[in-house]
Amino acid sequence: MKIVFFSAQPYDKVFFTKFNTHKAELLFLETMLNDQTVNLAEGAQAICVFVNDKVTAAVMAKLAGLKINILALRCAGFNNVDLEAAKLNGIRVCRVPAYSPEAVAEHAVTMLLTLNRKTHKAYNRVREQNFALQGLLGYNLHGKTVGVIGTGNIGTVFCKIMLGFGCKVLAFDLIGNKALEAIGVEYEPLITVLKADIISLHCPLNEQTKHLINPETLAMMKTGVVLINTSRGGLIDTTAVIAALKSQKISALGIDVYEQEEKLFFHDLSENIIQDDIIQRLMSFPNVLITAHQAFFTDEALAEIATTTLNNIQNLIENTKLSPQAALIA
Ligand code: NAD
Repeated sequence: MKIVFFSAQPYDKVFFTKFNTHKAELLFLETMLNDQTVNLAEGAQAICVFVNDKVTAAVMAKLAGLKINILALRCAGFNNVDLEAAKLNGIRVCRVPAYSPEAVAEHAVTMLLTLNRKTHKAYNRVREQNFALQGLLGYNLHGKTVGVIGTGNIGTVFCKIMLGFGCKVLAFDLIGNKALEAIGVEYEPLITVLKADIISLHCPLNEQTKHLINPETLAMMKTGVVLINTSRGGLIDTTAVIAALKSQKISALGIDVYEQEEKLFFHDLSENIIQDDIIQRLMSFPNVLITAHQAFFTDEALAEIATTTLNNIQNLIENTKLSPQAALIA
């Protein structure tokens, strides 16, 4: 079995090689998948892609032409894959539905705590022997209202952590979770959840959720709201959020994802001139924290991603049924 990896990073090589119990031939390519690079997969039985590989209808047709009928996502989100085209071209698609919800939820909390208690500023200040506290004032999370949009695997863990901090947790989802309600999470309509002190996004990106955070929903929020997005960049209309930061409607923004991230994230661009003026504007705010899609990046999560992805591929080759969550196109 030969598997070709697109957008492969050094850590992908380390973890997939370590957990390659099926002794598959693994070819790691740095390049992103697109209709020009897809031919590099010739001879493979499966290809493995990540969050920013655009698996379009053209790519699906070329994969079918190469007789490759397995596409494995080494992530949970699948908004970058044209599933209709996969079906039309007879390509089976699988993903890793829940490798470590704790990794992502804990990162969302990390962003919230950093923005609140300004530990990033304190670290630099103290190293310069500046022990003054002016400008570092935070607030207690205890007693604050947290709005959680999407209470699937990650949102559930996030809700539990926030309850542990002594927050009131309001949630919005298309499907409620009785177990969460039993421990104190209150499901409310979106309009109510948007009025929370802190809002964290944990729903997938799709046609319904694209630009969920837009001028209208921002207008419904409290002045001084804190917004955290570890889900997908497209959930936020970034231009509207910049306007809300300028008017101080938003008091702090933490994002691990960005709508145009594929041109930036996962690369060292420290010697380059960044052409994206929107991210440059975002980076200029003192109350904005950006991380480059690292919420998943823990030892436990990478081990689980590698193991599940390789098992998914092996099972598809052997025609063994995958779980409905893992099999996007069986
Ligand atoms: P999940 O499928 O377990 O949960 C998603 C939840 O969102 C579900 O409960 C679903 O009912 C709900 N939902 C769907 N449409 C909605 C809508 N219109 N409004 C409100 N809720 C809606 O997914 P998950 O594992 O919790 O992951 C959530 C998202 O996190 C993924 O889609 C992915 O985009 C993102 N993610 C990011 C990272 C990262 O490293 N930053 C890592 C993994 C996942």
